[in-house]
Amino acid sequence: MNVNMKNVKISGIRKFYNEVQKVDGAISLTLGQPDFELPKAIKDGLIKAINENKTTYTSNLGIDELRNEISKYLNTKDISYNANEICITVGGSEALFNIFTALINKNDKVLIPTPAYPAYESIVDILGGEVVNYSLDEQFNINIDDIENKIKDMNIKYLVLSLPSNPTGAVLSKEEKEKLVRVIKDNDVIVITDEIYEALCYEEYYSVAQCKEIKEKIIYVGGFSKMFSMTGLRVGYYACSEYLMNEIIKVHQYNVSCAPSICQWAVYDGFKYGLNDVEYMKRIFSKRKDFVVNRLKEIGLDVVIPKGAFYVFPSIKKYNMSSEEFALRLLHEEKVACVPGTAFGNGGEGYLRLSYCYSDEELNESLNRLEKFIKKL
Ligand code: PMP
Repeated sequence: MNVNMKNVKISGIRKFYNEVQKVDGAISLTLGQPDFELPKAIKDGLIKAINENKTTYTSNLGIDELRNEISKYLNTKDISYNANEICITVGGSEALFNIFTALINKNDKVLIPTPAYPAYESIVDILGGEVVNYSLDEQFNINIDDIENKIKDMNIKYLVLSLPSNPTGAVLSKEEKEKLVRVIKDNDVIVITDEIYEALCYEEYYSVAQCKEIKEKIIYVGGFSKMFSMTGLRVGYYACSEYLMNEIIKVHQYNVSCAPSICQWAVYDGFKYGLNDVEYMKRIFSKRKDFVVNRLKEIGLDVVIPKGAFYVFPSIKKYNMSSEEFALRLLHEEKVACVPGTAFGNGGEGYLRLSYCYSDEELNESLNRLEKFIKKL
């Protein structure tokens, strides 16, 4: 057995999801997947690809047609990668795994936010790297001074950015982008920027990948699970300069050869005919966000207004319980499931993650139940 596995925990989100299955009548706000049907363009694209027998291996990088579409799409966001600098993967998850596997030597230090999507820390642990956390402020903004100090003092090799954020909903502001670009320029560090929720930004979108001067130091991760509501179809990508691509692609090649062919074609059709659906879903998410935030405030919880993704991360610190205890009591006493903040690392203690990938009825009922629970405390 790989000795590193001892440090690796099963995802707290899954663990909690399993607990929810045991409670009859529980409403769950735990899942990070859009509740919308697959857009018609993607459905039709899948069927067409099957009927046209597009079911063989594709090139390792993925089909040219889709990589060209991604390149054009990124261009509309002021991010420039040509098709050969883009590799299509089995979800953003595979992209992250390949990138870290190609980069990390034993004991290499990787700077990761906390709270954050749990995969970063787990992958680094599996590979025998060393996780160093950087902090967020009360508004969940990244602490760029903390990042810079740690890069300088602790021999950090890699920096992970994850915005819009799962679980906080924070995004990168223009000022933060400018400050970060300077830090990246001045220091010897490679940045992995996971922007899987880019299509769900409720404010103007900024990314360090927009700065051409630091392109050699950036690896951009994107994906379609959230954008096209297709979590089970498993298509994502990463984009980077050639010298990084040449190494990372080897992991992808020996890992999966290529992303599923028909799903690649379906996403290609999604770009051509399905972008209106993306806008539609975003509008609905934005309305739900306002509803959930207002209800949480009415209930008396401290909540930072999310600016992206589809999660709210209210504080439960004033109730003097751990996140896990709060979430378990809420589940068993009022039958509402939210993920304890600690599932996203140490920085999540004192918070709960609510996903608003649920119908208005489910959101309304679960917030009523949460209110009842809080009144009892
Ligand atoms: N990054 C973040 C921040 C995520 O929240 C997720 C999924 N929840 C992923 C990457 C991976 O998504 P997928 O593999 O479905 O593209």
